Amino acid sequence: MTEVQLQEFKLDPDSELRFEVESKNEKVVLEVKSGYAELFGTELVKGKPYEFHTGAKVAVFTWHGCTVELRGRTEVSYMAKETPMVVYLNVHAALEQQRVAAEQESTRGPVTMVVGPGDVGKSTLTRILLNYAVRMGRRPIYVDLDVGQGHISVPGTIGALLVERPASIEEGFSQQAPLVYHFGHNSPGENLELYNTIVSRLAEVIAERCENNKKASTSGVIINTCGWIKGAGYKVLTHAAQAFEVDVILVLDNERLYNELKRDMPKFVKVVYLPKSGGVVERSSTQRAEARDARIREYFYGKRTPYYPHSFDVKFSDLKIYKVGAPSLPDSCMPLGMRAEDALTKLVSVWPSPALHHRLLAVSFAAGPDDDVLHSNLAGFVCVTAVDMERQTLTILSPQPRPLPTTVLLLSELQYMDNH
Ligand code: ATP
Repeated sequence: MTEVQLQEFKLDPDSELRFEVESKNEKVVLEVKSGYAELFGTELVKGKPYEFHTGAKVAVFTWHGCTVELRGRTEVSYMAKETPMVVYLNVHAALEQQRVAAEQESTRGPVTMVVGPGDVGKSTLTRILLNYAVRMGRRPIYVDLDVGQGHISVPGTIGALLVERPASIEEGFSQQAPLVYHFGHNSPGENLELYNTIVSRLAEVIAERCENNKKASTSGVIINTCGWIKGAGYKVLTHAAQAFEVDVILVLDNERLYNELKRDMPKFVKVVYLPKSGGVVERSSTQRAEARDARIREYFYGKRTPYYPHSFDVKFSDLKIYKVGAPSLPDSCMPLGMRAEDALTKLVSVWPSPALHHRLLAVSFAAGPDDDVLHSNLAGFVCVTAVDMERQTLTILSPQPRPLPTTVLLLSELQYMDNH
């Protein structure tokens, strides 16, 4: 029998408790015994147990001091006095002032983009700022352009959510009615043309929705980005800044990127340098791959609240599967008037084969291939769990019962092995 470890920590004001759960199938329970504490901007309820599982890297911060108890085996657990939380709170206060002004002048609230290299806490800062905004009664829009992690849907997508309540400690932001677009790879570099196309489309749709939702419009937008910041990665960031017409860019822990953006952005864009937290944990490529896998598993099976996906067979003849991007040819071989880059956003029909095994398929809202597929958002995802060439059927894991909607399915490069 494993022994349950119990640790108690007394935290001073302005300090945080950091811990990690590493071992397989481990569970750590956190409870605030006295005082007030928050986790990445969400208040913790005193006396309520919160569960964390393998892979969790957590910081419990307190403005006023508190006592916290941890039950279970943590790989690391320590208290830190040095945190950038006051700086982050000041950023929130400055954004809040802009929201007040937007409300008074009936204009748009601040559109903020968080940028920086990998593992500097971009997603965490995005979550903190959204939580602080919603705790002030705002309804900000959360945009995630990080196709590597897929915080809003699965990896290989970009998306947006209207945030109406603070993120749940264990499950993150409520995923009701997200706006999701298909990319199909875990790095923008795999198809820059397509990435920029869907980023522009998402920006357009958000601008339209803000016109009809004053509260969201004055609350503003907070955009999380990929950690790819050099060369073409930098161009991707400046394109996103332009597409969303950002007002503020928060640069985490990279002076070169800060200086480049200061040089290249129009004067009305405020570029702000912010320190990263010493608590942010670097992840290896294996850990990133595991996190992606865990994200897809959560999509189908849920996290704290279990989901029960359906599994059923579909005939090849009932499916219309496409991938985005034809092999690129030199300009000289392209039909007149077409650029080689156009091929990168073209739909190519895919006939089912064993190569589809374990692959994710995005279920588009587009009715057919002639509908504007790239500009249509997604209803969700299914995963191919078996291919039977003899019977000409695919077995599908799906959040919805059969039948599959008779719409376009888009092939993703991402795979998921369903051994639930
Ligand atoms: P990526 O480039 O992969 O998107 P990122 O820059 O967005 O990474 P985060 O995902 O925010 O970085 O943080 C990396 C990890 O560090 C996460 O697991 C997060 O929970 C953890 N983390 C962030 N801040 C702290 C902290 N203060 N203490 C402990 N862990 C932290």
